[in-house]
Amino acid sequence: MDDYNSLYTDSRYRNFDKEAVELYVKLQRRLKTLNNIKLLTLGSFLAIIVWQTYHDNSYIFENTIGNQRYILSLLIAYTTNHIISFFLHFFAYKNVENKPYKYFYVRGLSKIVFLLFSPDYFYALLFKNTIKENNKNCNENWCNDYCLRDNDGFGICLKAWDYIKIKNKFFIEFSNWGNVIISIVLLISSILYRLSIDWLLYSIYLLIILRTISRGIEVIYAFYKDIANVNDKIFSNKKGNRTYYVHGWKNSLLLKSSRISLAVHTLLEFIFLYSVNYYFLSRFISGEYLSHNMVATQYSNFINFLFYSFSVSMFNFSFTSFPSIYWMLAHIFQISLSFILTILSIAGYLGINSNMLERDNKFYIETHRLLKLKSNVKKKNFDWMNIKF
Ligand SMILES: [Zn+2]
Repeated sequence: MDDYNSLYTDSRYRNFDKEAVELYVKLQRRLKTLNNIKLLTLGSFLAIIVWQTYHDNSYIFENTIGNQRYILSLLIAYTTNHIISFFLHFFAYKNVENKPYKYFYVRGLSKIVFLLFSPDYFYALLFKNTIKENNKNCNENWCNDYCLRDNDGFGICLKAWDYIKIKNKFFIEFSNWGNVIISIVLLISSILYRLSIDWLLYSIYLLIILRTISRGIEVIYAFYKDIANVNDKIFSNKKGNRTYYVHGWKNSLLLKSSRISLAVHTLLEFIFLYSVNYYFLSRFISGEYLSHNMVATQYSNFINFLFYSFSVSMFNFSFTSFPSIYWMLAHIFQISLSFILTILSIAGYLGINSNMLERDNKFYIETHRLLKLKSNVKKKNFDWMNIKF
């Protein structure tokens, strides 16, 4: 912590730039709009489920579809999943950055595994890397020679990190809200599906399963990285006469509260995604057997599966006999994810490093002030209009 503090005592780094504060305020307001869209989708989803509970007219289809059509569905789902992941993260990138996207080399062959199985993790990595490369230097002319840089003086300028941290924070939040919205839209379309083209419905279900896997790997890997490698950084100037060692460096400016909110939202997203996973398994793989034994109440509808999924996430382990190996896999995967996300929330709440740097304190006071100021101005304008008419 000491070196963290002294790293910023130099007058050039003491406080956040005015521009950095303004960027934060601008993005925070933009995020609020997306948040409203998220709440709207969530509301309509719940309304549809309640409606569906009392009006069961779900499309009846055969338990199996032919091999050929199965492969076609899988191909469609796989490609669509990649397209969705790419554009979701592209959208998040476009919101935080006004430079056009440019690919920068990402190290490590292991990334191929992510490209194949977790496009969400892969594209997030790609765009975050570009944000880093875009903002390597602060705006000063002398930055190359005099600024403090990480990687022993050869990496990113310390002041530039302020902007990268802010952009990363919002990139993460935009992607997360976007993910929740997309998951809900997919759920709604799978529930309301009424066409008689079975491979299309099958594709939607497979797409939801692929998204579950993709997001699951992303969460598990991010968690592993969070506990396994503490980020250490060494900052230095070109001459090397000023060197700082920083323990527990964070790449994004996420407060404790934001981290918890992200974890809770992701948990919610998984509850939704898994409810469709079980719904699908019971309709296609296990047939009638399930709906009458494991999850059904008086209404044999989607809502049963939502309740079931919720109870699994809340550690109602329910180790009864599973109707199929796929069901068991889904169950185990969901419990692991819920466990991780719950731990993340608790760890975030108890947080070891809860004390903030003075510059961070100042920064949040200033952004709060500006956010309040702007919403007050809005209100005043509104009142004024009301009086006029
Ligand atoms: Zn600089």
